[in-house]
Amino acid sequence: MSYTSTRFIRHFGLSSAIACSTRDIGYLLITPAKQKLCTAAFPMAQKGSEELLAVVGGGAAGFYGAVRAKTVAPKLNVVVIEKGTPLSKVKISGGGRCNVTNGHCVEKVTGKTVRTASANGGKFLLGIGKQATSPIEYVEADYLLIASGSSSQGFSLASQLGHSIIDPVPSLFTFKTLDPQLAELSGVTFPKVNAKLTLESVKRNVQQFTQVGPMLVTHWGLSGPVILRLSAWGARDLFSSGYKGTVTVDFMPDLHIEDVKSMLSRHKLQFLKQKVSNSYPPEFGLVKRFWKYILDRQGLSGDDLWSSIPNNTLTSVAFLLKNCDFGITGKGQFKDEFVKAGGVPLSEISLNTMESKIHSDLFLAGEVLNVDGVTGGFNFQNAWSGGYIAGSTIGTRVSDAHLRGLDLA
Ligand SMILES: Cc1cc2nc3c(=O)[nH]c(=O)nc-3n(C[C@H](O)[C@H](O)[C@H](O)COP(=O)(O)OP(=O)(O)OC[C@H]3O[C@@H](n4cnc5c(N)ncnc54)[C@H](O)[C@@H]3O)c2cc1C
Repeated sequence: MSYTSTRFIRHFGLSSAIACSTRDIGYLLITPAKQKLCTAAFPMAQKGSEELLAVVGGGAAGFYGAVRAKTVAPKLNVVVIEKGTPLSKVKISGGGRCNVTNGHCVEKVTGKTVRTASANGGKFLLGIGKQATSPIEYVEADYLLIASGSSSQGFSLASQLGHSIIDPVPSLFTFKTLDPQLAELSGVTFPKVNAKLTLESVKRNVQQFTQVGPMLVTHWGLSGPVILRLSAWGARDLFSSGYKGTVTVDFMPDLHIEDVKSMLSRHKLQFLKQKVSNSYPPEFGLVKRFWKYILDRQGLSGDDLWSSIPNNTLTSVAFLLKNCDFGITGKGQFKDEFVKAGGVPLSEISLNTMESKIHSDLFLAGEVLNVDGVTGGFNFQNAWSGGYIAGSTIGTRVSDAHLRGLDLA
């Protein structure tokens, strides 16, 4: 198959040597592995349309949009410009157990960064350079899909094109606690807890600050779906609180405190001569390490016999199991949030097309928009769906124009 270069990339100050890489799905990836910017090159057989869709970002939304546009309008030229590793988050998501609706990966390539964007006379001009100081090359496109995730460069492109940006803040992260004894429980999981987030700065009652679900103790604090959900709902308030607050955990959400007390009292009567660290009500479903943690927090020695524990202490243990406070001192140790809240406000795009209300033929999809979902695949779904809708709109627009052209001919 032969290839032809096109008008779409203009070179300013870079080698004029051109290397190209194509995919059989018909769109291109710009790859610096060859140390050259790959110009738009298309199979001769497809050289019927001069229109180009440039996609900034080879992530979930960008790839889905690119493939969809090309599927609907096979004659459309499509270039995906990716500064890093394509679909990298799809590969790492969920530690191999990703919550994705579906997905497939393509060959690993790396790329260059789109640094500037402007619109003029119905065209978009993108400035591309490897580093901020690199010479810039330009791509002129008829359609532009910004699918740059939560990268600051992507936000900058959107604002260069007139969009506003809601300040991005981390979302979906773990909580750091300063409790050395809790750290010893690293790896302990609780299949179902009720966790309530309290922040000094938030006086209003936020229903979503209480979540029910699995929790995990890590060597730096608390994690698991219930904590990630709290971090998502509390993303902005946690940010403004400097990630300081309290999580109150009910380890027995299905039991009333009076039931917990009765279980402890019955256990005491049955095991008077046993050490408190050696036996506890099996209905609690707790691991022994955590039971010892509770005894320590209550100031009880594991060597005490059940017979020596007064009833008011049993009441305090029951209260602790139902209302165990953990001070949050920060967000996850590795700053490893999964997504960012913030980005281009949804009010600035048409959700049924993903087209900008500021520029026609400009589309935005995925995390560049002010959308952040809780865990469970919602973030990828947002990216796939947005990319699909944008790609469908662009493809349909191109096909319709092509058909109108045929009618006129
Ligand atoms: C560790 C981790 C695990 C996750 N697990 C899940 C999960 O299990 N389920 C789920 O639903 N979500 C998960 N997410 C969130 C999910 O990955 C993102 O919401 C989703 O990838 C967003 O898709 P996107 O296409 O908008 O952005 P991205 O996938 O981030 O893609 C954007 C791409 O654009 C490129 N780019 C940015 N700026 C430029 C530029 N100026 N020029 C060129 N290229 C640029 C970036 O390099 C990137 O490849 C996880 C995230 C992380 C970090």
